[in-house]
Amino acid sequence: MAKHQFQTEIGQLLKLMTHSLYSNKEIFVRELISNSSDALDKFNYLSLTDERFKQEEWSGKVFMKLDKEDNSLTIGDNGIGMSEDDLMDHLGTIAKSGTKAFMENLTGDAAKDSNLIGQFGVGFYSVFMVADHVDVISKKAGEDQAYMFSTDGTGEYEVKPVTKEEHGTIIYIKLKEEEKEFLDKARIQEIVKKYSNHIAYPIMMNFKEEETEGEGDDATTKMVNKTEQANAATALWTLSKSDLKKEDYTEFYQSIGHDSEEPLAYLHNRVEGSQEFTTLFYIPKKAPMDMYRQDYTPGVKLYVKRVFITDDNKELLPSYLRFVKGIMDSEDLPLNVSRELLQDNKVLANMKQHSIKKILQAIKKLQDEDSITFVSQYNRMMKEGVYTDHVNKDLLLDIVKYKSSTEDGLVSFESYVSRGDSEKKEIYYITGEDEKVLRNSPLLEAYNKANIEVLIMDDKEVDSIVTPMIGTYKEWALKDITAIDAPDSKTEEEKEEVAKEFKTLTDKIKEVLGEEVKEVKTSTRLTSSPSCVLKDPNDPMAAMAHMFAGMGEEMPETPLILEINPEHEMVKKLDALEDDTLFNDIVWVLLDSAKLSEGFEPKDKGAFASRITNIATKAF
Ligand code: ADP
Repeated sequence: MAKHQFQTEIGQLLKLMTHSLYSNKEIFVRELISNSSDALDKFNYLSLTDERFKQEEWSGKVFMKLDKEDNSLTIGDNGIGMSEDDLMDHLGTIAKSGTKAFMENLTGDAAKDSNLIGQFGVGFYSVFMVADHVDVISKKAGEDQAYMFSTDGTGEYEVKPVTKEEHGTIIYIKLKEEEKEFLDKARIQEIVKKYSNHIAYPIMMNFKEEETEGEGDDATTKMVNKTEQANAATALWTLSKSDLKKEDYTEFYQSIGHDSEEPLAYLHNRVEGSQEFTTLFYIPKKAPMDMYRQDYTPGVKLYVKRVFITDDNKELLPSYLRFVKGIMDSEDLPLNVSRELLQDNKVLANMKQHSIKKILQAIKKLQDEDSITFVSQYNRMMKEGVYTDHVNKDLLLDIVKYKSSTEDGLVSFESYVSRGDSEKKEIYYITGEDEKVLRNSPLLEAYNKANIEVLIMDDKEVDSIVTPMIGTYKEWALKDITAIDAPDSKTEEEKEEVAKEFKTLTDKIKEVLGEEVKEVKTSTRLTSSPSCVLKDPNDPMAAMAHMFAGMGEEMPETPLILEINPEHEMVKKLDALEDDTLFNDIVWVLLDSAKLSEGFEPKDKGAFASRITNIATKAF
C-alpha cells in the first residue's frame, strides 16, 4: 500500500478544518453532493457524445447511506469517477493557487471562514470538520481498475487498488463521535433540501427505520431498510418563473455558488424565437475571492439542452462580469460542441450579447434601488467594462459611480449631468490616489468657488486609464481639470495684464527651476493656495502616459506647468524679495508643496526639508 504526504497547504487546510472551523459544519454535505453532481454532469455528457458510452443504460444519481450502527455516512454517485492519478492530483494536491489565498483570507471568525471554503474550491476537505476517517473509492469511466484513497485527515493518505463494479465515486465517512446528528434522517433531509434540492439528479437516501407490526400485545418492532428520494431533482432553470419563489432561487444559488448568503440579485430569462436559450444569473453579495486573480474560476456553466458542457470557459461572459454566477442553457448548440468551436460560435456569441445586456440592465436597476453593496464590490469591474466593452459602453457608463466634490456618497454621470451646466455640457473630474489629497487640491479651489461639481476619482490605477478614453457621456465632454483652464470671471485682457505685471517674477522662477517645470505662469484658478502644478494638455507624452499605464508600464515623467497665485501674500512678497538664496528656497518650496498637495512626489525630499528649515530660520 502506497503512503503519500499531502501537499503542505493541504496539511494546513486539514488542520484548520479539524480544529478551527466548527460552525456551519453541515455544508460538507452540500460540497460532496455538489462534487457528485458535477461528476454526473460530466458522465452524462460522455454518454451522449462518446461512442464508448453511448450503449450504456445509465441514469445518474447520488446516493447516501446513513448507518447508525457503524457511525458512518456514505455519499456516492455513478458519475465520471476518478483514476488513481486523479485521486492523487485532485484530492492530494490543490492545483489552483487558491488555497494560499484562502489561508490568507481567513478572518478567524468561524462562520465567515467556513463560508470561504466553497469559494476556494477546497470543498472536499470540508468533510474533515466531521470525519475521523474518510475512504474515497472511485472508478473512472472507461477504466478497469478502481482505487481507494484513504486518510484520517492528518498529514498522510494512502491509495490502493480495490474492486468496484460501476464507474463513479463513493465517499465513506467515519464520523467523529460527536457528529452523530449527520446520521439523523430528518437532519440530512433538511440539509439536502436547503442546499441541494435543485441539482438535476435524484439524491437517494438509504436509512434504517423502526417499524411496528401487529397491534397490542402482538406488536413487534423491527428495523427496516428504506430508501427515499431526498430532493426535487429538477434543474431549477428549466422550471417556469411563475412556479418559482425567491427562496427557490436563493437555495439554488447557494448550492451552485457555494455561498451561505442570499445573492444580491438574480435574473432568469427564457428566450424563444430564431434561437432558444435559458439563462439564470446571480450577482453575489460579496465579490468572489479570486476575482482579481489571473486564474479566477469562471462562475457560469454552459449547458446544451440541459446537458452540462463546461464550467471552465472564460468566454461565456466578458471578463469584467467574472463575478456573475449561473447557467446558460442553449437549445441550438450541438451537444458535441468543442472548445475550439465555442471560440467563435455565432449561437454562443448571440447568447452572450443577450446575456450581457440583461445583466447590465439588472445591475442598472439594482443601482437605482440600492447601489451601496454593488458599488463597493463591483464598481471597478464596471470601469473595466467601460474600457473593454465598446458595444455596451453606454449601458456601463450609466452604471459606474464616482465621488463628487459637491455631493455626498457616490454619483453617476446621469445625476451629474442633471445638475450640470446644460449649455456647456462638460463633466469635470480629477484623478489621483488619495481622496483627501484630491479634495484639498488647489486645482479644485476655482471650481468650489464657482460652485461647479467635480468628480473625485480616487481609484487612480483604474481611473487614470479608463476615464480619459471615455471621451463623452451623452454629448457631455469629460474634462480633466488638471489639464484645462479653470472657470473664472476674468477676461483674456485682464489675464494678460496680470501675466505681464508678473513676467519678471515668472521668468525668474523658471530660471531657478530650469527643466524641472515646463512653464511658469500666473494663475486665475487659485484662491487660498500660493501655487499649483498642472499637466500640459498639449504635451504628446501626457497622451502617451495612459497608454504606458495601460501596458502596465511606469509612465515616463512629464514636466509640469507651475502656476502661481498673484493675489497671494507670499507671491506678492516674493516679487519684492532681494535675498537670492531665500528666493531660490521659496521657489522650490512653492513647486514641491504644490506637487505634494496634488499627490506628486517632490523630486528631492531631503532638499525640500532643508529648504523649509532655511526659510523658517530666516522668518524670526
Ligand atoms: P472543487 O470541487 O471545488 O474543484 P474539491 O476539493 O471539492 O474542489 O474537489 C477537487 C476535485 O476532485 C474536483 O474538482 C474533482 O475533479 C474531483 N472530485 C471530487 N469529488 C468527486 C466525485 N464525486 N467524482 C469525481 N471527481 C470528484
